Amino acid sequence: MPQLRATARSIGSGCRSVFFWFLGTAIASVWFVFRDPAFDYRWLCVGVLLADVLDAPFGGARAFHSMPVSVAALVAVVVASAGRKRWRKRALAVPIGMMLHLVFDGAFATTTMFWWPLAGLHFADKPLPSVSRGWFNVVLELIGLVALAWVWRTFGLRSKAQRDLLLRQGRLELAAVRRR
Ligand SMILES: [Zn+2]
Repeated sequence: MPQLRATARSIGSGCRSVFFWFLGTAIASVWFVFRDPAFDYRWLCVGVLLADVLDAPFGGARAFHSMPVSVAALVAVVVASAGRKRWRKRALAVPIGMMLHLVFDGAFATTTMFWWPLAGLHFADKPLPSVSRGWFNVVLELIGLVALAWVWRTFGLRSKAQRDLLLRQGRLELAAVRRR
C-alpha cells in the first residue's frame, strides 16, 4: 500500500507539471531557429514532454533531465537513421525536443542532475523542476498559451487544410491567405 501511495503521489506530481509552456516555447523556438516548414512538429511535441512523463514515476528529476542523455538520444537517432535521410529529419525532432525541455525547464540550474552521469552516478533527490516551481507555473502556462495562440494564428490553423498538414505530416506552413 505505501508503494501504491508513493506511485500515485509521483504521478500526481507529474500532473502538476507544465504543458502549454513546453509546447508553446518549443514550437516557437524551432520555427525561429530552423525556419523549416518540413520539420516534424508532432515529434517535437513528443520530445519536449518526454522528460517529465518518463521521470515523474520515479518521484523526481532523473536521467531524462540530463544533457548527456539527450545528446546520447541525438547520436542514437543519427546512427539508427544512417542512409535514411527523410526518416532522420523527422526523428531528430525528438532529441531536439528533449534538449529544449532542459532549457525551458531550467534544468541546467542543478549541476548534478544536468550532467548525470558525468557528475556522478548518484541522482540528486530533486523533484521535477516544473513541479518545484509551484504557483509560478501558472504564469508560465499563460505565456505558453500566448505562444500557442501565435502559432495558431501565424500558421493559419483555423483552416482545416493547415490543421491536417500538421496532424498528418507534422508540418507548419505560413498561412497562404494574406490577412487584412
Ligand atoms: Zn522537466
